[in-house]
Amino acid sequence: MNALPLFDRDGRFERLLGVSRDISERKRFERQLMAANQQLEQLATTDGLTGIWNRRHLETVIQASIERSSRYGEPLSLILCDLDGFKSINDRYGHPVGDQVLIEFCRRIGQTLRRSDGFGRWGGEEFVILLPHSDQQAAAALAEQLRHGVAAAPFPGAGAVTASFGVAQHQAGESEEAWFQRIDQNLYAAKAAGRNRVVAA
Ligand code: GH3
Ligand code: MG
Ligand code: MG
Repeated sequence: MNALPLFDRDGRFERLLGVSRDISERKRFERQLMAANQQLEQLATTDGLTGIWNRRHLETVIQASIERSSRYGEPLSLILCDLDGFKSINDRYGHPVGDQVLIEFCRRIGQTLRRSDGFGRWGGEEFVILLPHSDQQAAAALAEQLRHGVAAAPFPGAGAVTASFGVAQHQAGESEEAWFQRIDQNLYAAKAAGRNRVVAA
């Protein structure tokens, strides 16, 4: 550090002008700042319990994906899934076990997805899987694979857990709201038909 004293018009000392010469220290501060920024970004985009994207980040990515899909004419599909009878899992085994079920559910879903797929928590026990480059048929097939991955093996502490899935491909010119309405209807139909199933009609 080189310091240059500055004086006012009357010759009285005013302040020190410091010039840092210690490049390695500055580099260290820059690295710390970068790490802190990355941490902040991580906090702002992920769900605290499950570590997957939070709703705010999902909404940003969904909007960008619709624009991209419209511009390049690429298919874009979305799966909305909701755990079945989750309230009774909480009631029977307690909230902490419910939390562990959500974490395990996300682990199972996550291990089946590709890197380019988006995965986030829409709220409570409801999750979104965003599939760029996937048409209705491919998305429905993946949802069926995910459904099976959840239902096939018991969850630690909670036994059998199932989820219901609503699927729809985005249609050209369709608003995000209209698209979500169709997906929601499909999820509702999956619940009404008895749960633990995929509806992509
Ligand atoms: P359905 O099959 O119709 O989806 O029934 P459900 O019981 O899964 O649906 P409902 O909406 O009645 O209950 C969802 C429950 O999920 C209620 C809420 O307390 C619980 N829940 C939401 N977020 C969390 C969480 O972070 N941890 C735990 N343990 N429970 C949660
Ligand atoms: Mg539910
Ligand atoms: Mg729900």
